[in-house]
Parts: sequence; C-alpha cells; structure tokens
Amino acid sequence: MKQNKWSKGFASLCVEHINLEKKILPHAEAIYATSAFTFESPQHAMELFNDRDKGYIYSRWSNPTVEMAEQKLALLETYKTDISARAQLFSSGMAAISAVILSVVKEGEKMLTQHQLYGTTDELMQSLLPEFGIETINADLHNLKAVESLLQSDKKIKLIYIESPSNPLMEVFDISALCNMALTYKVKVAVDNTFSTSYLQQPLKLGADFSVYSTTKFLNGHGNNLGGVVIGKDKKFIKEKVWRYVKLLGSNSNAFDAWLLLQGLKTLSLRMDRHCVNAKLVAEFLQQHRAIAHINYTGFKTHPQYNIIKKQMRLPGSMLSFELKGGLSAGKKLMKKVKVCKLVTSLGTTDTLIQHPASMTHVNVSVERRIAMGLTDGFVRMSVGIEDAEDIINDLKYALE
Ligand SMILES: *Cc1c(COP(=O)(O)O)cnc(C)c1O
Repeated sequence: MKQNKWSKGFASLCVEHINLEKKILPHAEAIYATSAFTFESPQHAMELFNDRDKGYIYSRWSNPTVEMAEQKLALLETYKTDISARAQLFSSGMAAISAVILSVVKEGEKMLTQHQLYGTTDELMQSLLPEFGIETINADLHNLKAVESLLQSDKKIKLIYIESPSNPLMEVFDISALCNMALTYKVKVAVDNTFSTSYLQQPLKLGADFSVYSTTKFLNGHGNNLGGVVIGKDKKFIKEKVWRYVKLLGSNSNAFDAWLLLQGLKTLSLRMDRHCVNAKLVAEFLQQHRAIAHINYTGFKTHPQYNIIKKQMRLPGSMLSFELKGGLSAGKKLMKKVKVCKLVTSLGTTDTLIQHPASMTHVNVSVERRIAMGLTDGFVRMSVGIEDAEDIINDLKYALE
C-alpha cells in the first residue's frame, strides 16, 4: 500500500487488500477465512502446484487454520511413540470414514467389520458402498480364529474396520491382535476412535494403519461444530490418496470449524480426566439402582472385555449405556424427567447427553430390527459430561424414582 491512494478509483479502494506493516504474532491461532491465496509470481504458482506442501492455493485443497488443527491432531495421536503420522481433516466424521474406506477398498473388493457399529457407518456400509461394488462382511471380531480363516480364505478383503468401544453397546475389540493378523495377510486396519480420543487410546500405536474420528464429539468437545479426521502412518497415502476425497469430492473442513476444534483441543486432557471421573461415579450409582437391569461401562471388571480394556485404554472413557427394567415406558419417563442430562443425540460434549433409542433415534426402525441391534425397549445411552457429578447423579436419582 505504498502507492498514492488517489491513484485508484473509489471502487478499487473498496476491494483493495490492506497489508498491515506491523509484524503480526497472534497468541491464539488466526482464522484464515479466505477461499484462495495469492501467487507472488508465475514461478511461485508453479512451485505450489508442483508440491502443495510448500504453500496454499485454494482452501478446498488446504488452509492454514485447517492445517494447524491437522498437525496438532497428528501430534496427539502419536504422543510418546516414534510414529510420524499425517492427519487429514474433513467436514464431518462420516466424510472421514467414507474417504478412508474408499481410499483402501476398490470395486469388487471387501471389508471386514464387527456386527454392531455407529448407525450411520452401518448404513454407509449396507446401502451406499454396495453401489460402488464394495461389500462389507460383518463378523464376530472377538473370535480371532474365525477372523483369521476369513482373511485366509477371502483374498478380496482389503480392510478391517474396527469401532472400539462401539456405539452404543460399548463392545471392545483387541486392536493389537487384529492388527497383527491383518499384517500377516496384508490387510489394512482402520479404527474409529471417537469414543476414546488419542488421550485414552492410540490405535496407531496398537498397530492400526488409520485412526479415524468424528471430531464433532470429544475432540472438539463443546458441541458447536462438525468435523472428522483420518490420521495415518503412511503419510504419502494420506497426502496422495485420502486427500483426493477432499479435493475432488469437496469434503473439506473450513477455517472456522478448524479454529473451534483447535480451541477445544486445548482442554482435551482436562476435559477427558473429568469426563472419566464423572462417568465412573455415575456408573457406580446406576449399577446399584433397582430400576437398572444391566449397565455397559468399560470401567467395570464385569465388562466382558475388561482384560483388553486394561491393555489398550488409559482410562475407561465417559460413554455408557444401560437397560431399564421397566422397558419402553420407563425409558420415556426417564427422558421426560431429567433436567441436567440433555436429550440430545450426540455425545462427547461438556454437558451430559442422554438418549433413549426406542422412543427417539430408532422410532422408525422395526421393533425386531431394533432389538436385533441390541437396542431393547429400556435401552438408554449416556455421554457423561463435566458438570459436578453430584448434579448428574441427583438428576438421575430423581428421574428414576
Ligand atoms: C458421531 C459419530 C460418527 C459420525 O460423525 P459425524 O461427525 O456426525 O459425521 C462416527 N462414528 C462414531 C463412533 C460417532 O459417534
């Protein structure tokens, strides 16, 4: 802006980009809300097009605020390991999950997964991926012998997809055992680590090729945006293959959402510690309550995979689900009476969220199908927040009376 300001017309001044002369060293990350970036010269443009890691061209391709979040997520995921990973941020968890699957599994090939998964992931595998010629085999991933014989007999299987702990039954799978087996048969492994975050569980360290997340949940933590991420050990694969789904299908994140995620990540360990302490207290309260038939919580010794949990998770996390003895009417009554617990079909936020599939998310699913999914009439899922545990427990105590 050294030129004489009168040398341009008013309209030109209106669109002029103001470059400040003082050096800018912001304490908080800046929100780079720009669709595109300027080339200094044709030479500069050529360099950028030859290697996008050298700078920024267009925000669907990459953006500085988005990249700050990606680099932080990759660092957290590989904490105290000698793994060097690359993260690719997406517009949502589903965008990240579909991109990692489509990057690995091609037409005519298959993937292997567990029986019970996050509902939309299951729907993706059952209804959309078959249209691309991708078949999903649902198997009992606890049965390692059965998994091995599947891998042995079916060379079309290219990916094992694990969600552990699973949503909402809290099933846990032996990630390192499955990864070792996958390595023998040259099959890749992706783990949906949304419930745990890198603070509680590190799938790459356990041998997985990809860790995938809905950052919408605990990583962002405040329920104010959507996002997803794929973090992989093979940086070239993330940069060249996974990134194509961002560039070509437009499932990119953006500066505002990435910035919210960056702010959320600053308190991740503090929030997770508190989430975990509260969840344990809530689970213990529910366990002794006469209205509760059964509780699924990874912190109990009675959890069927307790030995695996101890081996692969730092702490049990703050998700739990339980079964009310009173069935459908008890579930509805509980939903009506809670006040501290919010009726929200999301999870991983600072406040406690509760939902009753039979009267909420799964009202349009046939009773037989819902029960087959493990979502019985009195089944309730909870994401325990960071409030005072006493308030959550008193809320439940009153509502369960
Ligand atoms: C929410 C969730 C997803 C999907 O993430 P979105 O950000 O909603 O697209 C995937 N997996 C798990 C385990 C989830 O809880």
